Amino acid sequence: MTQARRRFGQNFLIEKSTIARIIESLKISPQHSVIEIGPGKGALTERLVESRCDLTLIEIDRDLVDILKKKYQGLSIVNEDVLKVDFSSFLGIEPKRIIGNLPYNISTPLLFKLSRFNERIIDMHVMLQKEVAERIVSESSRKEYGRLSVSIQLLWEVTKLFDVSPTAFSPQPKVNSSFICLKPKKKINFDRDLMNQLLTSAFSARRKTLKNALRNYLNESELRSIEIDPGSRPENLFPEDFIRCANFLKKKL
Ligand code: SAM
Repeated sequence: MTQARRRFGQNFLIEKSTIARIIESLKISPQHSVIEIGPGKGALTERLVESRCDLTLIEIDRDLVDILKKKYQGLSIVNEDVLKVDFSSFLGIEPKRIIGNLPYNISTPLLFKLSRFNERIIDMHVMLQKEVAERIVSESSRKEYGRLSVSIQLLWEVTKLFDVSPTAFSPQPKVNSSFICLKPKKKINFDRDLMNQLLTSAFSARRKTLKNALRNYLNESELRSIEIDPGSRPENLFPEDFIRCANFLKKKL
């Protein structure tokens, strides 16, 4: 058996009740095409294989890939850093379901990366550090609400399914975890690049009012014309408010 590698964020799920709860919430059927990111020693993989779905694994650790290949002959196993995978071709034509007990250090960049392809994804079920999950699902005006919440909620319907304690893993992580579900929003009616610029500017100085934070993009009267109070702060806006800003700006440019 290989030692858990800290650099790969290896905290393997060992608690049977948690594994069962995850699998139950996925409701996988043989028709589904599933990508599991970071299968590790196969705690979830085993159950996914049983569901007879079309399964692809992406795992960075070559030793674990060797073990998985022996155990699951015939399964498609990609030995790569998921952050380097070219998802534009990898996802293929058939919409995919994505599942992963993700290593904490790559979870946010991975969610951003996959967000670019959300129209080709049926849903994503991921285990994250609880604190990151709370920022993702946070409602406007709460202390956890910020750029991450808005960027993700603009593209995905997000639901926190349940929390998982460190005792469910071996080795135990120092933090609590949460299992969340992301479903792509049907219509994306804004320019993504422009939105990124706008959000970077809006959240670059959290205590600034909108009229100051967005000074280079929209003036006070323009903000008022789209029913946004120029004296409010970015963390008080709903994701839809940012859509109105981006669309107004797009017309103006
Ligand atoms: N799914 C297993 C489980 O629940 O027991 C393992 C989860 S463990 C938290 C994260 C897994 O992701 C490890 O197997 C690790 O080797 C793998 N991993 C870490 N970084 C990765 C990356 N950049 N690309 C692909 N896999 C990665």
